[in-house]
Amino acid sequence: MKPAPADTGVRFRRSDLGGLEVAATVQHVGGINYATGLTRDAVRVDTVEHLLAALVSLGIDNVIVELNSPEVPIMDGSAAPFIYLIQEAGVKQLSSPRRYMKILRPIALSRGDKRIALYPSDHFKVTYSIAYDHPLLRHQSRTLRITEESFVEEIAPARTYTFLKEVEMLRQQGLALGGSLENAVVIGDTGVLNHALRFDDEFVRHKILDVIGDMALVGHPVIGHLVAHRGGHALHTAFAAQVLEETDAWTLVEGTAAPSTGDAADAVSAPDAVRAS
Ligand SMILES: [Zn+2]
Repeated sequence: MKPAPADTGVRFRRSDLGGLEVAATVQHVGGINYATGLTRDAVRVDTVEHLLAALVSLGIDNVIVELNSPEVPIMDGSAAPFIYLIQEAGVKQLSSPRRYMKILRPIALSRGDKRIALYPSDHFKVTYSIAYDHPLLRHQSRTLRITEESFVEEIAPARTYTFLKEVEMLRQQGLALGGSLENAVVIGDTGVLNHALRFDDEFVRHKILDVIGDMALVGHPVIGHLVAHRGGHALHTAFAAQVLEETDAWTLVEGTAAPSTGDAADAVSAPDAVRAS
């Protein structure tokens, strides 16, 4: 991740393709296959959602993300490693104001029993519910007001999950051959196969992480209440595109960056321990 001036947005740069870039905007969404991918001409970058969620939640609007491969490293399947790196590096507050997308009236999208909607609210809040026909994971639901602090504590550590049946299916198709037990919680018929859960409801928390990352593709942090039921990357990104099209449903408002940052124009929001470096 490299610093970028105001109005750059989040841009992925492929150093292995001579520095070709693709912007993290909904116009470039292409290829949803268990993760969100971006494409522009010959450039492709996969699995952007966890990093985008970390960036938008830590108040980072402008950054160049340089990669030497077509995929953002999955790490442990959560956003926690990205949070650690960003906090260690520090964040520079630019002098231009942050522009938020404030929701003025409800916007909704359903596909079968999958639903997602945005409602006016004074804060960015997410309600997510999931339901599966599986003995270990029937129904989970959570509502959380998303701030930098709540994201870091409650959402970022929640890991990707998958069902053993799906892993076996993917393996038969020659996919997911690389260490899926290290970077996802795998749910078997009788229990979680690897790792202890980080939260009792880690699964729905991860869905909140995913939808924050996918919604970041609208290009602005959102002020509104996002409500989703049984969504996935395809539904989230289709909704992000719809939100951008319904221009009468929102307005851009200017605000200061995350409240934890200092008031000087060049203030650095990093833990005190690393601020001196
Ligand atoms: Zn995810």
